Amino acid sequence: MPIVAFRIDPWSSEAVKEYEKLFKYFGIRPFKEVLPELRKLAEPHLLMRRGIVFGHRDFDRVLEAIKNNKRVAILTGLMPSGRMHFGHKMVIDQLVYYQKLGIDVFVAIADIEAYAVRKKSRKEVIDLALNEYIPNYLALGLDPEKTKIYFQSNHRTPYYRLIQMFSRKVTIAELKAIYGEDLETAKILAALTQAADILHPQLPEFGGYELVLVPVGADQDPHLRLTRDLADRFSNELGLTRPASTYHRFMSGLQGGKMSSSNPESYIALSDPPEFAVKKLMNALTGGRPTAAEQRRLGGEPEKCPVYELNAYHLVHDDSELREIYEKCKEGKLLCGKCKKETAERLKEFLKAHQEKLEQMKELSSKIVPRPRF
Ligand code: SF4
Repeated sequence: MPIVAFRIDPWSSEAVKEYEKLFKYFGIRPFKEVLPELRKLAEPHLLMRRGIVFGHRDFDRVLEAIKNNKRVAILTGLMPSGRMHFGHKMVIDQLVYYQKLGIDVFVAIADIEAYAVRKKSRKEVIDLALNEYIPNYLALGLDPEKTKIYFQSNHRTPYYRLIQMFSRKVTIAELKAIYGEDLETAKILAALTQAADILHPQLPEFGGYELVLVPVGADQDPHLRLTRDLADRFSNELGLTRPASTYHRFMSGLQGGKMSSSNPESYIALSDPPEFAVKKLMNALTGGRPTAAEQRRLGGEPEKCPVYELNAYHLVHDDSELREIYEKCKEGKLLCGKCKKETAERLKEFLKAHQEKLEQMKELSSKIVPRPRF
């Protein structure tokens, strides 16, 4: 298959399911190949151990840099739209993990992209970021004192200079090759802004980091490819180096399909009252069989089950406990009713503890992130 026949669209809602094509056509490497080296530094996060973080570009450079006490930053961008749910939590869990390893965390609030590409109102986006997203990020364990959070529309001058300078060394033809023919001005601006988000921590004004790591869902790889090219083109002039990246799988929606902020039936929000969240869980699709007798005979299909995913990605931290759920399901020894009830207990416990912290973080959020004036 020619490369052009498999294009990823970062602005589409289609999940990238065919992950192995990313290895074949775009040079993303399997994450499992860096696990042994990572283990020499720290126990890999459960998302890494379980193959949910499945790919990387240049993660070996990150490990090398940490070993040699070089300064590494990690950056994520957040798009405030809808409520924050378990699908979003995956990235924050990774940030918290890296922050504990001593890596400095940057969070870009993509309010310009939300305004220009998604046509959202400024006020709605800013309120959502400050009242919903940032408090959840902090409640999930990011250290408010060590995390640099900014709005794309409200940063310092050298960041904007970077966006302007990038425009000189990228052509419309290149952008179309990466993003497709349907390229509005707003998308060009958003793409260059994202490149500046990723690379600006390397400027002396923002800390002069030697390397930036970006953990993303597979649909965001086009931005990484553009940013890597721009880093090469500005290596002499600005001393920029290619960012490293990791790629994680998407969570399935509770009713199958993609988990999406625009479809409340597809997700459990981190601020959902626990009893309401449990109701959603009890109504979720499973990988079970039509009847209990069949499930006992044939076993379930945990690899197709959103309930299993919720356990594997978030609720069961012990690998042997998760393996037991998987095996019992496969062997037909665990039925979906019981499995859902046990998952519901874990879910309630998590949400109660999280929501207690969330209340404390709401006030703090507005204090540590300056609100754009308009
Ligand atoms: S037993 Fe649990 S893991 Fe297996 S299919 Fe049913 S809900 Fe999913």
